[in-house]
Amino acid sequence: MDKLLEEKFPEILIVDDDSSVVIALHKVLQDIGRIRFASTASQALEMINGTRPDLILLDVELPDINGLKLCIMLKQDVETASIPVLFITSKIETGFEEKVFDAGASDFITKPLKPRVVAARVQTHLAYHKALVQLNKLAHTDSLSGLANRLSFDEQLDIEFRRARRQQEPLSIVMIDIDEFKKYNDYFGHVAGDDCIKAIGRGLNKITKRPADFAARFGGEEFSLILPNTDKRGADVLIGSLMSTISDLAIKHAPEAIYPIVTVSVGFSTLEPMQCDFSTIAPLDVVSAADKALYQSKHDGRNRYSYQALEV
Ligand code: GH3
Ligand code: MG
Ligand code: MG
Ligand code: MG
Repeated sequence: MDKLLEEKFPEILIVDDDSSVVIALHKVLQDIGRIRFASTASQALEMINGTRPDLILLDVELPDINGLKLCIMLKQDVETASIPVLFITSKIETGFEEKVFDAGASDFITKPLKPRVVAARVQTHLAYHKALVQLNKLAHTDSLSGLANRLSFDEQLDIEFRRARRQQEPLSIVMIDIDEFKKYNDYFGHVAGDDCIKAIGRGLNKITKRPADFAARFGGEEFSLILPNTDKRGADVLIGSLMSTISDLAIKHAPEAIYPIVTVSVGFSTLEPMQCDFSTIAPLDVVSAADKALYQSKHDGRNRYSYQALEV
């Protein structure tokens, strides 16, 4: 199966201080997912921060924080907002349903628990959540190279630009373009062209080792890297290894190309928060500067990299 759509046994977190409820739920749900338990809100938060569950069954009355409050907290955090929360309750006083949905819960199940109803509700919400996660992954992935796509690049650029400003850390952007790729396609055909794009994509994936480094297919035969907390010198070192990784691939180029093997031209620019005025600089300015540098590399003969300082 496609790695993107790989099956995974769902993680279900049950948060309830009543052990009889926990035992009953475990019995009903053990074949649907991997079950974990927490008896307090603080224990639940700790577990959620460790491994993200795919669904949370939440008691309203917990010994430390009220379950509704915990739900609101989870929904306010971008990292946990999309996890479906189902309340378990015996309390169906007037206005309770509204309160549950206002807190951002997906549904609620009333006590006494009916095993088939619990299983059906949990399965429905797990399936819905899984479909959303897959859709989100597909929307952010380039299907040919498996790298992040342009949409993903734009979102990540925005996140890292704001982080650089907040933490006063440098941010480098690298633009990469395959040299004379039209000649490659014309000579070897588009299927081989696609394979070449995939191989370059794998090469980029290999050299971006730090967890925060981000490689994307910008479009066509162009790629880009976002390198957080990386200054000009750091980017220079990484691009050096990028150039040798691509040349080590030794992909034979078309006979009429300048170089016998496929090469890339690269441009980069670095945002130095200490030296710039954020009221006049936008994330795309860093991309434009890197793009300018890329055209300089093309102009100077291809198969090289150039730096363009940001106009601050
Ligand atoms: P330069 O060195 O100046 O970059 O020359 P180039 O030939 O690489 O640049 P140009 O922009 O003229 O051509 C880019 C080529 O990339 C043309 C297009 O058919 C090819 N291309 C873009 N996307 C894909 C793709 O997904 N698959 C294949 N096989 N080719 C692609
Ligand atoms: Mg309770
Ligand atoms: Mg191009
Ligand atoms: Mg090109």
